[in-house]
Amino acid sequence: MDIWIPLLWLATGICLFAGIHFLQAGRAQVNAQMFRAFGVTSLAVAAYIGAGALMQTPAATASAEWIERLHVSAACLVWPIAFWFISLYSRLRAWRGWVIASAVVFGSLLIINNTGTHSLLMANVEFMEPMVLPWGERVAQVTGTSAPWAPAFYLATLVAFCWGFWRCVALWRMGERRRARPLAIYLVLQLIASGYSEYYTVHPQPTLGWDALPFLALVLLLSRALSLELRSYAAALDTSNTALREEIGLRSQADAELRLMAYTDTVSGLPNRHALADWLAATLTAKPPRQGALVVVDPQRFAIINHALGHRTGDLVIREIGKRLSHAVGKDGLVARLSGDEFAVAVLTQASAPDAALAQATPIAETLRKKLAEPFQIGANTLSVATHMGLAAFQHAHGDGDELLRQAYAALHEARKTLHHGPLVFVQSMQTQAERRLRLEFDLRAGIENGQMHLVYQPQVNHDGKLVGAEALLRWNHPIYGAVAPQEFIGIAEDSGHMPALGRHVLHMACSMLAGLRVHDPFRLSVNISPWQLFLADFMETVHTAIRETGADPRRLTFEITETAFIHDIPDAVAKLRALAELGIRVSIDDFGTGYASIALLKTFPVDELKIDQTFVRDMTIESPDRFVTAMIALGNAMGLQVVAEGVEREDQRAALAQMGCHVFQGYLFSRPIPAATLAERVAAAEAGRAPNITLAAEPRP
Ligand code: C2E
Ligand code: MG
Ligand code: MG
Repeated sequence: MDIWIPLLWLATGICLFAGIHFLQAGRAQVNAQMFRAFGVTSLAVAAYIGAGALMQTPAATASAEWIERLHVSAACLVWPIAFWFISLYSRLRAWRGWVIASAVVFGSLLIINNTGTHSLLMANVEFMEPMVLPWGERVAQVTGTSAPWAPAFYLATLVAFCWGFWRCVALWRMGERRRARPLAIYLVLQLIASGYSEYYTVHPQPTLGWDALPFLALVLLLSRALSLELRSYAAALDTSNTALREEIGLRSQADAELRLMAYTDTVSGLPNRHALADWLAATLTAKPPRQGALVVVDPQRFAIINHALGHRTGDLVIREIGKRLSHAVGKDGLVARLSGDEFAVAVLTQASAPDAALAQATPIAETLRKKLAEPFQIGANTLSVATHMGLAAFQHAHGDGDELLRQAYAALHEARKTLHHGPLVFVQSMQTQAERRLRLEFDLRAGIENGQMHLVYQPQVNHDGKLVGAEALLRWNHPIYGAVAPQEFIGIAEDSGHMPALGRHVLHMACSMLAGLRVHDPFRLSVNISPWQLFLADFMETVHTAIRETGADPRRLTFEITETAFIHDIPDAVAKLRALAELGIRVSIDDFGTGYASIALLKTFPVDELKIDQTFVRDMTIESPDRFVTAMIALGNAMGLQVVAEGVEREDQRAALAQMGCHVFQGYLFSRPIPAATLAERVAAAEAGRAPNITLAAEPRP
């Protein structure tokens, strides 16, 4: 029965398998090169053990010399490859030099082995009588005389052994004991095997070829060590995979939450502006086509609720409004909170034409308005909310969400202006209006700086028709729109923060004009002052500067301030009016009777003049004197104030006002607003006593 030779073939097979396995398994690893080197080492060891097996097979003795050369060649191959592997395994940085040196040495020996007349180790190879093992197996025995190059080979292997030992110690000292241990065992086995073969060289006698066994041990031990490493890599990979999966899970959850936050309003829980934009974009391109309308809802007085009852109550009101709107619209639409107190409601209709869609949407909007008008019970407070609404129809594939929102806002803007509480439907002129407003806002600064603004002056006369003053009125000659009325752009200047600059400019122009006029009592030039100007911290400084720079006489100035200016910061307003009085500037309440606090403010504020608004003057005649005007004039007189009526267009109005006790008149009956030069002429004529009465002048009706 044969045992020994099959065992050697089995060892060959094991090494072959290990070689192929590690060439494969190590490919995707971080240190793939080390695994590759081990694979190749295992294959070389397989060749060495296989050659050893052949040498001990009696049937192969005929080709003894050839097999001997094969055996030595395999040994010459194993060593440089082992250098390569052990360098990487022991983490030798400068490994290339060692590998090249070993390749040169063993490569040379390999060439000598295969090109000489005999093998590297034996000069002549002879087969002795086979050795018979206890179980009857016959194992071939080789003998021969040592070849001249044999010592070189043994020296090279001794150096290789010592080098391996050095690497093992280095690994141990690096603290890499798990790697050093198998290498150490191999080296010990190699040492024993070398001693054993030296002994039999000195004392030749039949023996088994054990010398391949250390190499087998090397392959087996390191296969195990490297497999463990591979397994720990796999485990680490698994752990990081799990961690990665968890991380991905967390991230996608966070993503979803962020998305939700980005598309939801936190106070009301409703979709926000972005969500509305997405919804509109999807609806406008949906198949089958959908039609509908967008309503922008603006509850009024919301700021007052916030201020008076606190922001928490305000939030509750917002939530309640959201609920009511959502409930009224149902599933077939969308309610979104746009900002502060503004909501958008998108409703879908069955109609295919925009007009029909509007006809269907308007009653829906009306229902929304009614729902919001019902009282809210928030804690102990019963509140009611009036709303303004702007409505715009949308049609499949027409325009985009942004444009639609702009249209609904344009309608809302108009609704706010007209105090219209029902839903106001967008029409194109609103867009034009909104665009014009925007254009004016953009152009305002340039308008002020480029001299497009100028003042015209509307004379004021007393009961004899004598010129006693004039009101400076601002005009803007816009490069595109031509003459723009102050009613249109003063509001824009106030909203857009241009009022301080504009106010300074007006004051400067008016003072310059006044400084150029040679006037005496009772002549005064009235200048309109916006509440926004009055409340500027540097208002008085502006006044002083204008007077100083132009040389105007402040005692010839009247500032017209509308009532709304007086209801804000009362102490500040009082202080400023006093400061004006000290300078000799008179203060007139413009548009008296149109505000909230007309009578009350006369008690509090140091004013000198009442200017009765033209709306009261318009409808009165001598036969039907307005009782309210009568009362206002009486009040002014009782308080010792000068009473001026504006908008006097007819003689009967003038006569009625004069009869009631009005002192000064301003209106088209006497003169339209006129250019500065014309006013200067009239002033000069009046001073010379040449033109006691003022006649109608030329500024075209705006
Ligand atoms: P206001 O101060 O009440 O000015 C009187 C307005 O009534 C002027 O309109 C004037 O042209 C007009 N008016 C005068 N007499 C008659 C009349 O007999 N019939 C009619 N129908 N209208 C008459 P204007 O110039 O368009 O100014 C409108 C408003 O713009 C002014 O009302 C004033 O509030 C504001 N405003 C004008 N200039 C300035 C300014 O320089 N600064 C400020 N802050 N506001 C100004
Ligand atoms: Mg005025
Ligand atoms: Mg007025």
